[in-house]
Amino acid sequence: MHRMYKQKCMEENRKPVSDEKYRSVFKEYNLGFYKPKKDQCKKCLSYSTMTEEEKALNKECHDKHINKKNDARKCRDEDKSLAKADTFILAFNSDLEAVLYTPKGSAGQIFYLRKLSVYNFTVYDLVTQDVDCYLWDETQGKRGSNEISTIIFDYVMAHPNINAVRMMSDGCGGQQKNSIVMAMCLQLLLKHPKLQVIDHKFFEPGHTEMECDSIHSKIKVKSKNVPVYVPEGWAQLIRDSRRNPAPYEVHTMTFDDFYDYKTLSENIIAKNKLPIQTICWLHYDKKYPDKIFYKTSFDQEEFTEVAVKKTRGRPKSLTLLKAYKATLPISVPKFADLQTMCKDNTITKGYHEFYNSLKTNKDVRDALAEPDFEEPDEEPE
Ligand SMILES: [Zn+2]
Repeated sequence: MHRMYKQKCMEENRKPVSDEKYRSVFKEYNLGFYKPKKDQCKKCLSYSTMTEEEKALNKECHDKHINKKNDARKCRDEDKSLAKADTFILAFNSDLEAVLYTPKGSAGQIFYLRKLSVYNFTVYDLVTQDVDCYLWDETQGKRGSNEISTIIFDYVMAHPNINAVRMMSDGCGGQQKNSIVMAMCLQLLLKHPKLQVIDHKFFEPGHTEMECDSIHSKIKVKSKNVPVYVPEGWAQLIRDSRRNPAPYEVHTMTFDDFYDYKTLSENIIAKNKLPIQTICWLHYDKKYPDKIFYKTSFDQEEFTEVAVKKTRGRPKSLTLLKAYKATLPISVPKFADLQTMCKDNTITKGYHEFYNSLKTNKDVRDALAEPDFEEPDEEPE
């Protein structure tokens, strides 16, 4: 459609806007694009358009991909029934929602102004169906692995009686499949009163099937035509997104809550020993605090074990420090845009103080938001 629009612009001698801009305007008018089905992943899509010859050449690789996809689904179902039968197992999946831009109005004129980013990390308990949403804005933390690690750590610690964790997450993007989250898992085994083992499995990229995804679309639907003026507005909206069996639980996170697992991981894990790209299953055992076990396919019989402890160089600090000492500044142009929305009362008066109090720093740059893998129509920042 963008192509048709561009052609029309050329015919009328006008300069067309970029594809991204076009998409965001389009979205603002609520028309929506055809969203590819979840199971139309890039790999599968390109395979389906190959000639018979090409297909024959790529068959082995493609079969592997499909098997991994099916096995991951089986794993999720297994975890669910295991945890149902054994109350000492905590089984959950978790994911970051696409950025929630704040304020969010129904008025079309504000879409091109920079807004405050709000992040929601959702955890879904496979047995109780409890949903915990952890919410923070860009002045309280980033959208990174320190934040995710802190939240998973807190979430598991809030279940003091369990002895096993079975968790699943998205296998792409590296938000959860990295040495930072690994360091957190080793830390959990060290600090949790009863926890013995952690199994962390990853969906095959392109075929993530998590309840978190449908939770996020529920929140998206709920937010249609509802204005949100400040980050706290999202908390209320998220709570209201479900009634049964219980409303979503919202935890507001502040800069003071987040820990620096990144530095810890650099000090304790020799990450070059792990084939991170191909790993689909990580296993941790309290009995082996310096080892990480992994599989690169779900039907691999035994785990491969790796001693990950760093042996070279001076011994580094094993103390876990806080990630931030203070709230984080936003960019100068973003502050100006937010002030514009205060002045023209897009943001109503009661909320001006919140926006006036935000810190700025000229070194902060607003990078274009990276579109999530399965959300090609993400609105750029
Ligand atoms: Zn696929």
